[in-house]
Amino acid sequence: MIPEKKKSDSWREALKFINKCPVCGSIYNTKNARLFASQDKASLIHISCVKCAGNFIAMVVEVGHSLSSMGMVSDLNFSDAEKFCQLEPIVMDEMIDGIRQIKENNLIKNYPDAKSGFRHSVGKI
Ligand SMILES: [Zn+2]
Repeated sequence: MIPEKKKSDSWREALKFINKCPVCGSIYNTKNARLFASQDKASLIHISCVKCAGNFIAMVVEVGHSLSSMGMVSDLNFSDAEKFCQLEPIVMDEMIDGIRQIKENNLIKNYPDAKSGFRHSVGKI
């Protein structure tokens, strides 16, 4: 049960169950967990592993008097997660166009910066 006075910080309760890095298995220092978005009874938190530098994003939701969480490994650092969380959601037309671009192999052709970046990184190998 979540005490009323701690509801704004109740996402920290879920850290008891999100205590191990899914990439390397190290125990998280939960003091590194940071809240980057919240709405109503849902909170989005970010944790970085000090051993492997892997990032983990979890959504913690208050359900009645309990907490539920689900998470995913991410390549987003805290700043990226906070920034991208503010963007408008992708709409269906953008997804369809993205799939079409991939199928037609247009990603590199249509994005000159990506093309030069690719050449640059290949050159370093
Ligand atoms: Zn790790």
